[in-house]
Amino acid sequence: MAARPAPYLDDLNPEQRRAVETLDGPVLMLAGAGTGKTKALTTRIAHLLNTGRAQPNEILAVTFTNKAAREMKNRVGRHVGGVIEGMPWLGTFHSLCNRLLRRHAEIVDLKSNFTILDTDDQIRLLKQLIQAENIDEKRWPPRLLASIIDNWKNRGWTPDKLPASEAGAFNHRGPELYDAYQKRLITLNAVDFGDLLLHVLTIFQTCPDILEKYQRWFRYILVDEYQDTNVAQYLWLRLLAQGHRNICCVGDDDQSIYGWRGAEVGNILRFEKDFPGATVIRLEQNYRSTSHILAAASGVIAANEDRLGKTLWTEAEGGEKVRLIGHWDGDEEARWIGEEVEAYQRGTRGLDPIGLNEQAILVRASFQMRAFEDRFLTIGMPYRVIGGPRFYERMEIRDAMAYFRVVVSPDDDLAFERIVNTPKRGLGDKALATINSFARENGVSMMDAARTVVADGGIKGKGGKNLDELIRGFDRWRAIMRWSAQPGLQDDDVIDVDEPMPERPAGLDAPLSHIELAELVLEDSGYTAHWQNDKTPEAPGRLENLKELIRALEEFENLQGFLEHVALVMSNDTEDSAEKVTIMTLHAAKGLEFPVVFLPGWEDGLFPSQRSMDETGLKGLEEERRLAYVGITRAERHCTISFAANRQTYGQWNSQMPSRFIDELPQEHVDVLTPPGLYGGGFGAAATASPAAQMMRGSDLMEKASKADVYNSPGWARLQKNSGRRSMRAPSEARNMVIDAAATPAFELGERVFHQKFGYGTIAAFEGDKLTIDFEKAGQKKVVASYVTAANE
Ligand code: ATP
Ligand code: MG
Repeated sequence: MAARPAPYLDDLNPEQRRAVETLDGPVLMLAGAGTGKTKALTTRIAHLLNTGRAQPNEILAVTFTNKAAREMKNRVGRHVGGVIEGMPWLGTFHSLCNRLLRRHAEIVDLKSNFTILDTDDQIRLLKQLIQAENIDEKRWPPRLLASIIDNWKNRGWTPDKLPASEAGAFNHRGPELYDAYQKRLITLNAVDFGDLLLHVLTIFQTCPDILEKYQRWFRYILVDEYQDTNVAQYLWLRLLAQGHRNICCVGDDDQSIYGWRGAEVGNILRFEKDFPGATVIRLEQNYRSTSHILAAASGVIAANEDRLGKTLWTEAEGGEKVRLIGHWDGDEEARWIGEEVEAYQRGTRGLDPIGLNEQAILVRASFQMRAFEDRFLTIGMPYRVIGGPRFYERMEIRDAMAYFRVVVSPDDDLAFERIVNTPKRGLGDKALATINSFARENGVSMMDAARTVVADGGIKGKGGKNLDELIRGFDRWRAIMRWSAQPGLQDDDVIDVDEPMPERPAGLDAPLSHIELAELVLEDSGYTAHWQNDKTPEAPGRLENLKELIRALEEFENLQGFLEHVALVMSNDTEDSAEKVTIMTLHAAKGLEFPVVFLPGWEDGLFPSQRSMDETGLKGLEEERRLAYVGITRAERHCTISFAANRQTYGQWNSQMPSRFIDELPQEHVDVLTPPGLYGGGFGAAATASPAAQMMRGSDLMEKASKADVYNSPGWARLQKNSGRRSMRAPSEARNMVIDAAATPAFELGERVFHQKFGYGTIAAFEGDKLTIDFEKAGQKKVVASYVTAANE
């Protein structure tokens, strides 16, 4: 096939071009942040397609997040000048393994409609097993066991392959509990995250014919962020690539930040040994960041001992230095950053305006997000949280999804247990225990057990009647789903071929879409009514969330696809193009770039984390430092690092020290800012010591200024009186008290109110202390109740 023109190659430097054009044999691209590794990888896919080397479905490409996979698809599409007819094998390890496992589930005794458990389900299951063994849960918590098991799975160890060295785990009970857990999962037709990969690995290892088929099928394998693969992923890749060896991996040892989850940076260093004769390509030009940002990042990472070391340079000289600022506390920090985001948006200091989509706040720990969310709600700044407090983890969402799960997989016991008495159906513990033990004794699902127990009159009274009704409901919803799915309306995968096609369900004239079905399920089951009748202030917000859930379904073809998506993505990261500032964790930000980046919370104990500081040896600390490097290198033009003198963690106030990483920032690339309104302009000029030392002085001064404010507030006095403590260091608490003292009046739905920024509006919904208000001028917005007063007309 004659090669079509390849204009995309002109955008690459010679080394990148070599990575793209060396199509056969193993290729390793090992290079620093922002040097165009992902760009080269994407172009390589385009080139494979364009030269006719492979069809879209013959390329296996692994990205780190679902978002990265989507982006890559779009970019490849642009390069080859049109829409590619699907790249079904471009995704994360989890999504790719999910696909493979559904095809071959029976080999590991699963059915193809298996459920993917989330952490919550997983913990619940482990708890049951621990309780059944009469192990003291307090000393040996399920969470600990969960992380031990995850760790084993990350290493590719099934229960029968567990090495002797692990025998002592979890008070010597670990191995047997692991075995029991795996068996239980199989009975439940369920897998956890680690299983997705582990089962596929087992299939490849036990069925050479299947492995061979895929080895032949995937003619080209590409892996981004290779430094963060764990052992199981590494084995998986190595098996698949063994045939033709057309594998191209890209990574950066300085950005290995998932060691705590079993990632082995050694994988990248071992590549040349595993694939002798590999072409190794190094890139040195950074195209992302200005020289100050790059120098700051390089300065920090240079403090790590365990690294290959590399040079990076950029043509983007000059620009703004990395800015450093200290604050009194986390709320103050959030307030200041909010103002800075607005300032960039407007265009200040002679800069062009920078939109909200181009700005990101990257936090070390997800609890830090709360202060930003609250602040942004207050000032009406649109934001998106990625990987944060998760929509899909809310109670009502999990309940609703459990209903959907049972419709899709009636054997999903965990889902069934969750909703069998939600809303209340008069089923007591005794009734549930009866069903549970029947299920265990007869090796059937809870649903089947309930069916038999009810038919035999085993549950008396209202509870029995309601349960009977629920079971009939599920039968009907499932029949509707399956009947509506034919012919060819839905993905064939959904339909279990062993189950006969249902007759047209009575009363159903036309097929229902999965969206209509979902609404029907929530209504007929009484779940929607349950929240409609609930008088607590949260109820309207929960109903709103349920509506949002139904809206989210629109992007999917069927319920199963949606459930899989949620299980795999587990965060509210649906694409949305609206202008919003992004809040996310540093871990989730890997591979991304933003013109403006804020890095708050650079304090010892938070960043680097306490755990890494307590550890003996440098391993943990070095990983934190790589995380700092990842953070700074996300910034293209503006990077602001900040810290607070006081921070509330887990409900407790701590006095913070600036992060040791701040000392490692090369001074000549850093601009130390004076916190506004406290000391005029003199502070920066007086600076002679390291940035951290300067900032310590800053926080001392600040402490005096802000404390005076707080001490004089009525809230502080009341707090002291109430608590009887004299020297309580809780300034923000005091400040919140001031707001609380102003008292949030109890609003009513539909009430007309006044908001400090948006003016008049009427209340459309409540969710905790947040109100959704239809503003007369500003449209609908979510705001914090304490900034709203009753409209006085
Ligand atoms: P990270 O390590 O952070 O994942 P990376 O090495 O994958 O970074 P990319 O995201 O591919 O880097 O590229 C960084 C930026 O540089 C992108 O905006 C990309 O478009 C741009 N870029 C990459 N290569 C070139 C090039 N040859 N010419 C111009 N711009 C480039
Ligand atoms: Mg990248």
